[in-house]
Amino acid sequence: MSLLSIVLPAYNEEQNIANTAKVLSEMLEENQIDYELIFISDGSKDGTFEEIKKVSAANSRIKGAQFSRNFGKEAGIFAGLELTTGDAVVVMDCDLQHPPQVVLQMWELWQEGAEVVEGIKSKRGKESLGYKLSAGLFYKIMSALIKMDMNSSSDFKLLDRKVVNVMLNLPERNTFFRALSFWAGFETRTVEYEVQERQFGESKWSLFSLMKYAVANATSFSTLPLQMVTLMGVIAILFSIVLAVQTLVRYLMGTSVEGFTTVILLILIIGGFIMLSLGIIGHYIARIYEEVKGRPKYIISKVTDNVTGNVLGEWKSNK
Ligand code: UDP
Ligand code: MG
Repeated sequence: MSLLSIVLPAYNEEQNIANTAKVLSEMLEENQIDYELIFISDGSKDGTFEEIKKVSAANSRIKGAQFSRNFGKEAGIFAGLELTTGDAVVVMDCDLQHPPQVVLQMWELWQEGAEVVEGIKSKRGKESLGYKLSAGLFYKIMSALIKMDMNSSSDFKLLDRKVVNVMLNLPERNTFFRALSFWAGFETRTVEYEVQERQFGESKWSLFSLMKYAVANATSFSTLPLQMVTLMGVIAILFSIVLAVQTLVRYLMGTSVEGFTTVILLILIIGGFIMLSLGIIGHYIARIYEEVKGRPKYIISKVTDNVTGNVLGEWKSNK
């Protein structure tokens, strides 16, 4: 019988763990699906890991780990994938905003031969205006940069074991899970779902963290910003040819004293372009620096009793 693993990254979600574990295990047992639930507490400062230990003690199919500090959802997903043993793995939020029934649809599609099942948002749940604006901008930038429609895609997906192994063997540290399943290819199917309202607690994303995430992912998936630097250079050169001709003509006509405004504007514009370009290049150098250091994506400090293998303080480094 095939085993379904569900990975649930959780950051300060003590109110959600027990309920989510109950909803998922009841649903899967009812449908006679062999399963395991893997909760990754992403350095939570509340009782999230204690809750995970509690549900794990009551149901041996539930496992969990705690990070030594907050490493971000991306790291949580990858640590979860690392701990799975299932033939198919579903990644979903632990706040039940990803409707559990959709997991059944994904499982069915997998049994029909799909290797990747993408959860596609048909409608975003109730969100504040600020969030809508920032998330909207975020997805616009992302979609343009990595040439994939990011607006409706999400981290809610099912991956076949093969695909999970591809993900785990990626040498890079700055991963972007949402886009990597597109990148990996494989036989892909989609299911639509409606984002549910969060039951307990609040969203862990602030406007600032979302923008940081956007920039980090854009630079890890695209070199377009670097090419834009070249484009800016070309524009600046064209502009300067026009001005050079104008300046020479004025000089020859003996009216070259004027043009102070032009000089100031040029210094400002070119200076701005140069600083922006240096910033963009600097960002890529920072990414290269991070990759070269080869630090782990996450560090696990605690696990539930039923987690086997040596994972404490360990990580799968570049093999
Ligand atoms: N999450 C995480 N680490 C973080 C932030 C969030 O593991 O640093 C988890 C969080 O517990 C939840 C999921 O990622 O299970 C999605 O987060 P959230 O619900 O806050 O985001 P939203 O649904 O508002 O996009
Ligand atoms: Mg959520």
